[in-house]
Amino acid sequence: MSEELHGTITIDEERIMKALEHAEEDAVQVREVLAKALELKGLNADEATVLMRIQSPELEEELFETARKVKDEIYGRRLVLFAPLYVSNLCANDCTYCAFRAGNKAVKRRALNYEEVIEETRILINQGHKRVLLVAGESYPKEGIDYVLKCIDTIYSVKSEWGEVRRINVNLAPLSLDEFKRLKERRIGTFQLFQETYHRETYSKVHISGKKRDFDWRITAMDRAMLAGIDDVGIGVLFGLYDWRFDVLALLQHNNHLEERFGVGCHTISVPRIEPAVGAEVSEHPPVPVNDRDFKKLIAILRLTVPYTGIILSTRENPEMRREALAMGVSQISAGSRTNPGGYHEEAYEMSQFSLGDHRSLDEVVEDIAHMGYIPSFCTGCYRLGRTGKDFMDLAKPGLIKHYCEINALSTFTEFLEHFASPITKEVGDKLVDKIVSEQPATRKERANNVVQKVRAGERDVYV
Ligand code: SAM
Ligand code: SF4
Repeated sequence: MSEELHGTITIDEERIMKALEHAEEDAVQVREVLAKALELKGLNADEATVLMRIQSPELEEELFETARKVKDEIYGRRLVLFAPLYVSNLCANDCTYCAFRAGNKAVKRRALNYEEVIEETRILINQGHKRVLLVAGESYPKEGIDYVLKCIDTIYSVKSEWGEVRRINVNLAPLSLDEFKRLKERRIGTFQLFQETYHRETYSKVHISGKKRDFDWRITAMDRAMLAGIDDVGIGVLFGLYDWRFDVLALLQHNNHLEERFGVGCHTISVPRIEPAVGAEVSEHPPVPVNDRDFKKLIAILRLTVPYTGIILSTRENPEMRREALAMGVSQISAGSRTNPGGYHEEAYEMSQFSLGDHRSLDEVVEDIAHMGYIPSFCTGCYRLGRTGKDFMDLAKPGLIKHYCEINALSTFTEFLEHFASPITKEVGDKLVDKIVSEQPATRKERANNVVQKVRAGERDVYV
């Protein structure tokens, strides 16, 4: 084991390539795997591969239908919402697909000062957000990593009469073990980092210069994060760089490695697809674009393979794709997002990391989601009560987490409706809350109703 890396992970490329050589769909096998998936215990990599071979529209619909059932069974109607907060676009790396890459002269460089961080946070709080994802390029102002740590403290320090940010997740470049320990002290929620592609050759082609060229430093980051005591980590792939089937199977190997070493796998999986980005040619012509059909397939396969792991869909997808992806497996989405530092108080898009597929405000997204029958959730209860990492999974796997989540989702949604919603969203939302409360099983109905009534009467931050 390398001392600096604090771990090694070998993605077995040969095994994956072999599995993908046999492309024949086998209807009997597919149906056996789908039946197993309904037991809600997840699938192994071989079973996931069987599903990847699906070609016929009929079996594809069976796959989607099974994913919808599993999603509904485990997550019910709730959907977690968050906002990204880009604090800096300084970056020393050259990732061919990203607008923040060092060689891109079309983007003005900027790291928010702490007053600006406060300003951005206040706007998000006033829109109704409670969960923020802090994002930065891989180069920091002169304070180094302390800059990011101070940004976290700054965001948590902002209290407005409308509320506060209750959970900060971060999406940052890999850190050393000591830096992760310092990050842990900041009370972050999830540490997110995407491998982009697990295919080494492609990885080295698209990462031209800078520290990010080091595949092993990146892939071992989650080991260091977990050794530092960060329980919740989020992994992901940037789809479009290489064959999605390879990358999904490799991501599952990464997850298995974490499970074997730490007794718990990743908390979330993110599924961004490459979007056009200013000054980043590869983003206009992704090497292996993933079409909508395959994208839905991969979300459904992930849902069935790791049913208790959150799936995050970000800003980048348009409303139609989001709608379908939600039914199939996505459990968290970003809403009302800006992807440039200062983007919430300045409304300038030209410095954005990539072009957004969804320009709607949080209120519009909430209204749309509520119309579809989902409960938008701003809940941070588990994290604040220490239900993280293995403790979270131990509750989630036997289905216990549902008892908390549904009620907490209703509580935070009601809080949103009381303070931040437009009249039309409030009307739609209140009706939905009443309907969901009335449909709760007898064991939860009274508790759910009490929580909603307390929030409607003016109590805040009610969670179980
Ligand atoms: N700099 C850190 C890193 O690279 O890990 C964290 C911030 S970076 C902006 C966050 C993520 O943005 C990357 O991991 C990558 O997957 C995603 N990204 C970059 N360019 C993109 C594009 N053109 N379309 C969609 N996502 C993109
Ligand atoms: Fe920098 Fe991250 Fe963009 Fe790469 S993806 S150029 S590391 S901000």
